[in-house]
Amino acid sequence: MPVSIIDRIRQADNLPSLPSVAIQVLKMTQADDLSVSDIAREIQKDPALTSKILRVVNSSMFGMSRKISSLQQAMVVLGLRTVKVMVLSFSLVDMMANKQKERGFDYGMYWRRSLTTAVIARLLAEATQRSLADEAFVGGLLCDLSMLAAAHCALDLYEPVIKAYRTGNGTVQEIEQQVLGLTHEEITGDLLDHWGLPEDLCEAVRTHHQAIEAPFEGNANTATLVKILRAASLLADVFVADAQAGEIDQRRQQIMFCLKIDETALTALLEKIDKNVREAASAFALNIGQTLSYQEIQAGAAMQLARLSMAAELERAETAQREKEAQLKVQQLHTQNIQLHQQASTDALTGIANRGSLEQQLVTECDRCRRDLLPIGVILLDLDRFKKLNDTFGHQTGDETLRQVGGVLKQVSTETQFPARYGGEEFAIIVSNVTARELRALAEDVRLGIAKLRIPCGNRYIPVTASFGAAHVSAGDPALQPTELLKRADRCLYAAKNNGRNRVVCIDSRQAAALASRQLVRI
Ligand code: GH3
Ligand code: MG
Ligand code: MG
Repeated sequence: MPVSIIDRIRQADNLPSLPSVAIQVLKMTQADDLSVSDIAREIQKDPALTSKILRVVNSSMFGMSRKISSLQQAMVVLGLRTVKVMVLSFSLVDMMANKQKERGFDYGMYWRRSLTTAVIARLLAEATQRSLADEAFVGGLLCDLSMLAAAHCALDLYEPVIKAYRTGNGTVQEIEQQVLGLTHEEITGDLLDHWGLPEDLCEAVRTHHQAIEAPFEGNANTATLVKILRAASLLADVFVADAQAGEIDQRRQQIMFCLKIDETALTALLEKIDKNVREAASAFALNIGQTLSYQEIQAGAAMQLARLSMAAELERAETAQREKEAQLKVQQLHTQNIQLHQQASTDALTGIANRGSLEQQLVTECDRCRRDLLPIGVILLDLDRFKKLNDTFGHQTGDETLRQVGGVLKQVSTETQFPARYGGEEFAIIVSNVTARELRALAEDVRLGIAKLRIPCGNRYIPVTASFGAAHVSAGDPALQPTELLKRADRCLYAAKNNGRNRVVCIDSRQAAALASRQLVRI
């Protein structure tokens, strides 16, 4: 439940309240009439705190030209406000760091992230609005405090978030929103509010994961602090490897635009981050594990870019290869199809069309001639006494004869002449758009061609002849259709056989009609 995690954190007995020194210092800085030495005296009650403050003040983060050796001196040089903020942050870190016992929570990562955000926020403030530097540092340091508090006081409620986050599906705040119904930004803001920390700080913390340019209602100072914390979070993501190194460039651009920092200043700032974070970690006595320098991030980004372009190149090459293979496959299938079609429509012995394709062709040609009002002819031919040839000279000579007759027919194959083996020792030629005279002449030519053949058999050459029946049908004759044409041609072939073989018998539409009427009269 959204409320319960906040309640649990607020009401937790085991969550320490602010250390007394911090409370005291907070109160004192709010009063006008206190002197620097009053406050110094209060802080010095805690010697560990005093020495930490001095170590931080002398770290390169503050860039002092000379060593600061006393609290009083620090307060004069840095101002009361800075020291107040430092007391606060040290006290909070101390208080929370002491509790580093919960299992399942990555404290090293937590502090690395918090310190990185704090250092970046401070550097960004120095580059944009120096007066906000200390507040920015504390803001950055405390941004994620509620995660620590939740892990400490309500681990049972917060553990599902930690587990889901480790699977790498989404940002922490997205997962918190899903699991808890609110994010660590809101919980931290609430907690800081509860402790009485300055309102602008609480407000800035509450929206630190929003887009830098997202509008913020408040005074100009707070608005700048808000932008600084958002920008620091964006950069910290990359420095603690929560975001890919490759994102650094886009984030740089965004920050340059929104905070109006020039490129050189931002580069100089980025180069300082790693050193400052490690120094801050040592001053706060926090173990933060391995940190990343800007150089390492740039190298990571370059590698990522190289990997990406290599992967894209590989993908392109693979796609091209796949396309080539697919094209080849299509071509192979196409060739195979043609071959299969040819096989299915060709007579294996003679290499000319077979009966199946002859019948198909006849249907097509009859249709075409009927439609275009063209005449058509069919020639049927049958080898003479072929059985005897087989019996006398052997089946192989018979086959060779069929092959050579096929060769003669092949020679008359044109766009309008379609020769085929009809079956056994019978052949046919479909001739479209032809006169009866031309049809007869063609049949005669083929007959002579066959008669000239001499089929080798041992040391002999065997002559061969064939008988021809040809039917010619004029345009408009209702007999212009496959069965009738074949029937007429077959009758003529029969007549050629009866009339002595090795001859052509031809019939045209007119003769066929006359014959039919004679037969009718005879009936
Ligand atoms: P006709 O002049 O009256 O046509 O006499 P024919 O002997 O040619 O006619 P028939 O129908 O009696 O005999 C045809 C022969 O053709 C019989 C068959 O063995 C032969 N034949 C059919 N197909 C083939 C083949 O593929 N190869 C061979 N070698 N012979 C075949
Ligand atoms: Mg026959
Ligand atoms: Mg025959």
